[in-house]
Amino acid sequence: MIAAFDIPVHKVEHSKLRDIVLENLPFGKYFTDHMLEADYVDGEWKSVSIKPYQPLELEPSLAALHYGQAIFEGIKAYKDQDGNAVIFRPYDNFRRFNTSALRMNMPEVPEEIFIEGMRKLIALDKNWIPAIKDHSLYIRPFMFSTDHMLGVRPSQTYKFLIILSPTGPYYAKPMKILVEEHYTRAAPGGVGFSKNAGNYGGSMLATTEAQKIGYDQVLWTDAFEHKWLQEVGMMNVFFVINGKVFTPSLEEGTILAGVTRDSVITVLREKGLEVEERRINIDELMEAYGKGQLQEAFGTGTAAVIAPIKELRYKDFIMEFDINKFPVATAVKEQLAAIREGRETDVHQWMFKV
Ligand code: PMP
Repeated sequence: MIAAFDIPVHKVEHSKLRDIVLENLPFGKYFTDHMLEADYVDGEWKSVSIKPYQPLELEPSLAALHYGQAIFEGIKAYKDQDGNAVIFRPYDNFRRFNTSALRMNMPEVPEEIFIEGMRKLIALDKNWIPAIKDHSLYIRPFMFSTDHMLGVRPSQTYKFLIILSPTGPYYAKPMKILVEEHYTRAAPGGVGFSKNAGNYGGSMLATTEAQKIGYDQVLWTDAFEHKWLQEVGMMNVFFVINGKVFTPSLEEGTILAGVTRDSVITVLREKGLEVEERRINIDELMEAYGKGQLQEAFGTGTAAVIAPIKELRYKDFIMEFDINKFPVATAVKEQLAAIREGRETDVHQWMFKV
């Protein structure tokens, strides 16, 4: 076990911060001065350190590049009213990261490296957290296999890193969504519930094709009938029907267990709304729409938090929504912002002080 105070820190000589204005930055383009790096060798995590953000030297035979043992997480840190750095629910991402690791036959990363390392890294680069509404510091922990060997087998060595990227508002615009009927993101027994790199590589063609005909993202459906709803792009999906909230259940293992999803369900239930996690079929949605009962549709995720859907298309059937009349999405978005900004008591202790 490596205690936090054991992680050595090599600081940059000159911060890049003076060359950057931390306002309206595009997502994931700029990185802070430092990163955390750790290596898994001989069955244990070694050489953990925080060092200047820098390129990695990799062999062409690197296992991750060939066989895809690669996983990641996405988390956000904010500045609170007193200027302290706070991270939103990092322990949930820590647990999900290790769930992904197990599924991809990779070693787990201990709390002492994932959480304490992150805390120490953010404390060091805290001035990179934009203190502007809807801005944040995006945290990207990731791990990949590093054996230099072309045999197909689980790698024996791995690298874990954390990099940080200051970011402005993301995905703010209401989305036009196409219900996917050809490609599949996840099937039972597969890797849909894990946050591994291949899931994203495998989804890009569907998204590109949807974009060519004017849609922003696809709504993923099941592998067999292409009718049971899963996720919307890289977000979990919620519907409000007759004042009641529905979101696809996680049981089949085809959906990523979003931290925002869980936060939204919790907040809505606290507000007295009924939230049902269950299988949802596109036919049911269209029927509700036809009766005027489908009131809201929105995605949830770390990047956007809440992203309203203004149009949902299934075959030639188009469902349109007036996103100005989304009281449920608006209320939950506001409540989460209030918790984040310290205007509301953080009863669940979601905000982790650095
Ligand atoms: N589904 C997928 C496929 C995602 O990549 C994400 C983003 N991590 C989500 C859902 C939303 O998860 P979270 O709320 O934890 O960001």
